[in-house]
Amino acid sequence: MNPFLNPSTTIPFIKNYILDPGRIERLRPKQLERYRDNSLRKMISYAYKIPLYRKKYKEAGIHPSDIQGIKDIQKIPFVSRQELRDNFPDGIISSNYNKEKGYVICTGGTTGKYCCNSGSEPVCTYTDIPTMLRSIIISTREQRFFKLKRGKTRIAHIGNFNPFKFDEVFEKNIISHAKPFFSFQNYLSMQASNQTQEILERLDAFRPDVIISYPTIFQDLAFLMKKGHGKNILPKLLLVGGAMLDEYTRNYVEGVFGCRMFNTYASCESGAEIAFECTERNWHIHSDFFHLEAVDENMESVAPGERGHLVITRLWGGGTPIIRYTGMEDWITLGDGKKCSCGLKSPIFGRPVEGRILSNIVLANGRVFPPSAFLFITSVLQDLKTYKVKKFQIVQRELDEIDILLVIDDDLRDEGPTFEEITRRLEDVYSEKVGPEVKITVKEVEEIKDDPNSGKPAPLVVSYVNLDDVCNTSNL
Ligand SMILES: [Zn+2]
Repeated sequence: MNPFLNPSTTIPFIKNYILDPGRIERLRPKQLERYRDNSLRKMISYAYKIPLYRKKYKEAGIHPSDIQGIKDIQKIPFVSRQELRDNFPDGIISSNYNKEKGYVICTGGTTGKYCCNSGSEPVCTYTDIPTMLRSIIISTREQRFFKLKRGKTRIAHIGNFNPFKFDEVFEKNIISHAKPFFSFQNYLSMQASNQTQEILERLDAFRPDVIISYPTIFQDLAFLMKKGHGKNILPKLLLVGGAMLDEYTRNYVEGVFGCRMFNTYASCESGAEIAFECTERNWHIHSDFFHLEAVDENMESVAPGERGHLVITRLWGGGTPIIRYTGMEDWITLGDGKKCSCGLKSPIFGRPVEGRILSNIVLANGRVFPPSAFLFITSVLQDLKTYKVKKFQIVQRELDEIDILLVIDDDLRDEGPTFEEITRRLEDVYSEKVGPEVKITVKEVEEIKDDPNSGKPAPLVVSYVNLDDVCNTSNL
């Protein structure tokens, strides 16, 4: 049955559509606090029906009645990626959950070795139609902020439409059913793994106002556009997510597309956007939908402004609850309550999300660089005022061995700084940061391949170091 014909789906959807987008702007701080407390209580009661959570809460001696609100959240045990995986499928849904009406969504695996845990296998959770519908409403906030008009703004989405991926499940079960009721002539979706030339041609014909995709897709498109292709691609806004965006790529892409590019932050497990970047380049958290905590390696909260591991609680939605979940493995920094000058009242991160903890560069002396803090290459390339590096990747092969892979734009090979000059600068800068005992090798490569496990574009920073010997980073 088409869910859009089912009043038990459409009525809450309409109600949420009216109430959700403006909630943070509309409510006074106390009211918002109450809303978050209520939402958490509901989620805890729901989780108590789910075998995995129920078992954990009983072991911890926690009953839903012990949780009055967010202030009590620290009483609740963490749940790890491994636990969700071990308890899939029946342990992560309630016994009366109708699997026929649910959908499984899986994260991609990731490459590299992991710090004191296994994390390479995908984690799968259940979602359902009402939950997916609500996720659309959450992203209407950024659409309002950027003044996009539903049905009028031409949106192209280049995503991961492989089976069990959020984009695919959403497209198949929501968009396809919505087509009889809403016009989708201003919406184009494409598989990110298609040939760049094909994506470019379709965009050129479609002429989008907004393009949503991964950083490297924009980078690949920008590369062709710089050579004069895709003259009709004149978007007003680019929304990027799914991977870390570095300043070099950002400047390159914005320069070629002639418009600004902003981050969105989401994950399979969150089931919706968690935050988005505004025009002031602050990342606004949808705090009425998610409660975020930042913890250190001992799972203790870190102060606002300090970098910590993300612990996420979803304050809404059906299927598998996500409560004090540690498995997203991103570095975050919470803000100190200061409001953004863009005018939105939602809380902002202290600094942008910094990529996956598992991609940390760790040195023999114990020093740790989160991936985003290891992108010194971007300032080197910017200082050299060159765009001849088409792509790059930093690979830590051993504790004392780091390769910097560069893909060079052949047409620009003889312009600006030479490859040797770039190499020298990179070696100098990186050696200074990591010390002389780490060997830095800059190599030219033909291409940087997508991640074969997740189907997603390759990360900018990868570490193959087995960290079991050098760290004791708890259970993240
Ligand atoms: Zn802002």
